[in-house]
Amino acid sequence: MIQPEVIQRVLREVDPDELISLTRDLVRINSVWDPAKGTSEQLASELAGNWAEAYGFEVEMDQVASGRPNTIITWDIDSGGRHLMFEGHTDVVTPGDISAWHYDPFGAEIVGKRMYGRGTNDTKGNLAAMLVAMKSLRQSGAELTGKIIGGVLCDEEDQMIGVQDFIRRGHADSITGAIICEPQDGLICISQKGALRAKFVVTGRMSHGAMPLSGLNTAPAVARLIDGLHKMELNAIREVGYDEFLGWPSFTPTAIMAPVVGPPQLNVIPSMAELLVDIRTVSGQVHGDIRRSLIELAKDVEENTRKYYKEYDDIITLDRARDIGVNVEFLADRPCTFTDKMDPLVIAADWATRQVSQRGAVYAGVPGATDGTFLWSLKDIPIVTMGAGDRQVAHQVDEWVDLDQLIETAKIYALIALHYLYPRDSS
Ligand SMILES: [Zn+2]
Repeated sequence: MIQPEVIQRVLREVDPDELISLTRDLVRINSVWDPAKGTSEQLASELAGNWAEAYGFEVEMDQVASGRPNTIITWDIDSGGRHLMFEGHTDVVTPGDISAWHYDPFGAEIVGKRMYGRGTNDTKGNLAAMLVAMKSLRQSGAELTGKIIGGVLCDEEDQMIGVQDFIRRGHADSITGAIICEPQDGLICISQKGALRAKFVVTGRMSHGAMPLSGLNTAPAVARLIDGLHKMELNAIREVGYDEFLGWPSFTPTAIMAPVVGPPQLNVIPSMAELLVDIRTVSGQVHGDIRRSLIELAKDVEENTRKYYKEYDDIITLDRARDIGVNVEFLADRPCTFTDKMDPLVIAADWATRQVSQRGAVYAGVPGATDGTFLWSLKDIPIVTMGAGDRQVAHQVDEWVDLDQLIETAKIYALIALHYLYPRDSS
């Protein structure tokens, strides 16, 4: 049992003005990864590092790529068992067409209870909240055991090279739980949808549209692939059902290209077609099995299309090569993650949320992947994704964060760490 006066001492250290000014300073740095314009995560990463250093944290900067550092902030309390990570990314997505904004995307303007700007919501506000939480806990003098690691990472929005570098260098080796600081509107997200992306390549033979028999059209194979994906989706829906946090699994053909190179022409049968499929998975689905089914689908479609052409050609007594080819390539593979409700990290998040939030502890799932996906899948680290900010507002024009919710979030983060690192024998 944590004494109420300890809880109050930690909460008193959370300074709303400091949180707001740190968020503002981070938002005013344009950290879109854009080598042509010379912007990157560098300055935001340095700002976080300098801020933490001033409060006595150990700070290390790793160059992940040129101009793209990770800042690792550590407070090694003692040799105790639990090592808690707070993870927040420094990169933001492009503001897009600036004329569509009503506020300066890098102005951090405050109107009423909202701060506007790129990254206020995703996720510089939450990054500031995790830093302020770490500092508040340290300043509070509360009795703790273990270690806190702040991972201020680059490139979450694209290939997630930051978190992969963090893992490669061994920083994640001792971590027992990680809070992924992302805009989830105060919800406690214990699962994240997985993503598997693949490309089917169908090869046929080019010919004149008026003389189709002198070529080999890829279209019948593409139609079979789409039909096969639809069946795989229905099978998955029947097998794993509706996930209470993540919804239904999906196998979505998103882009169909034929021809693959050059402009399409109505009177030309293209020699090649490509079909992109965006598969989103929920718990209970195994990516290895799905990969095997997709390879199987490519093989079946190839065989059945050849058979179709054989039967067709037999009817019209035509002799031609029916060497249609169907292959599949995998472009990205990020598994679905799930952290048990009884994990000490989730218990801490639940407790902290109940202490601070008016909303109470509400559980949910994340529709996409985050840096946490890698921590979970490569290092078996239990993760909880949570933070301030409307879930729909990330990446939009006039992105904003509610400052009251942001302050609440910093307090929740601080209490999660307090609960998670509180000495067990005295609890
Ligand atoms: Zn984000």
